[in-house]
Amino acid sequence: MAGRINDDDVRTVRNAVPIDAVVSEYLQLRPGGGGNLKGLCPFHDEKSPSFHVSPAKGLYHCFGCQEGGDTVDFVMKVEHLSFSETIERLAAQAGITLRYEEGGYNPGRQQGERTRLLEAHKVAAQFYAEQLGSAEAEIGRGFLADRGFDQAAAERFGVGYAPAGWDHLTRFLRGRGFTDKELTLSGLSQDGRRGPIDRFRGRLMWPIRDITGEVVGFGARRLREDDNGPKYLNTPETPIYRKSQVLYGVDLAKRDIGKQGRAVVVEGYTDVMACHLSGVTTAIATCGTAFGGEHVKILRRVLTDNSRSEVVFTFDGDAAGQKAALRAFEDDQKFAARTSIAVSPGGMDPCDLRLAKGDEAVRQLIEERSPLFGFAIRSFVTQHNLETAEGRSAALEQAAPVVARIKDVAIRHEYAVRLAGMLGILDERFVVDRVR
Ligand SMILES: [Zn+2]
Repeated sequence: MAGRINDDDVRTVRNAVPIDAVVSEYLQLRPGGGGNLKGLCPFHDEKSPSFHVSPAKGLYHCFGCQEGGDTVDFVMKVEHLSFSETIERLAAQAGITLRYEEGGYNPGRQQGERTRLLEAHKVAAQFYAEQLGSAEAEIGRGFLADRGFDQAAAERFGVGYAPAGWDHLTRFLRGRGFTDKELTLSGLSQDGRRGPIDRFRGRLMWPIRDITGEVVGFGARRLREDDNGPKYLNTPETPIYRKSQVLYGVDLAKRDIGKQGRAVVVEGYTDVMACHLSGVTTAIATCGTAFGGEHVKILRRVLTDNSRSEVVFTFDGDAAGQKAALRAFEDDQKFAARTSIAVSPGGMDPCDLRLAKGDEAVRQLIEERSPLFGFAIRSFVTQHNLETAEGRSAALEQAAPVVARIKDVAIRHEYAVRLAGMLGILDERFVVDRVR
């Protein structure tokens, strides 16, 4: 029977961590009057902030969904942790050593599944980071150097290396007291013919962190010709890793996203690194999946999404990039923020751009963004042959709905007129009416 946490220690933990500090790990808080703070609720999807935090009382309350409570309630609910896991997590943050009734101090047996999986990832990230210095990891260090990343950059992002053998990490984690069941559940190991083996072998490893900075998964890049796996291999879906909900770099970027009211969405791990190192510290990326509805929700809270905030997407200028941009435009409707697109010259991604032209060029790429709807309209129009009446008509059919969805009325009208110009339709009125 696992020990119960000492009541006095529970009280100490409850009072040790200020509620506003805990909540602002998950969403941007702004002054809400009367010494209170407010932001977009993490428990329901909303357009304007009704989630209030009172630092003086140590309580939170949402007037939209009626969720409320203290720091412990908040962490339990937002992280899906048990009561004792929550106390352990907050105690660790505050540097408090907990005493346990009955069984004495035995956190290993006390911990719930979620905490164990996070612990395994923390140990794995340290293991991989250390391996990056090994002789075998030469190829990985070369990969980073070729892309303009030195050792300091690798350390800043915790980049590591998974050894090429079958079970280096698996044996290491077993030695640290993790069970085979925990190892396969975490996605770090997978079933082999004679027990679990390492999922990631001979690859460069990016730790993927959740919004609070806890490692929840890995992105692994192929390095060798004889590796038959995909270019990037990511952690599979686990109790702590859902690819539709993770944003690479959000733990590093969230403060500046909140401060600047702007987020930059890029396509890969190396692009996030290149952006941050160039001074674009608001860059994030999805992990092995397209930017989707769940990502929008997370970003909206970090951004305090409103008409003054902005989301900038970077895409290659090629066909795939255009497709991605059009898909992103679908998400435009889910943001109150303005959405923009930054297309790099020659289709270079931010990582290539930084390598070829330096940090300044990356900052400039983001500065020279243009509205996403303008890009979407142009993309649709250029798909058709405007020499023919049929082509012009088809282009109008596709582009008019995009114009119709522009939120600002004055800008919508301006784009209707521009669309008429692009299509060579002299009767602007006709296009404006069609947009309506
Ligand atoms: Zn709510």
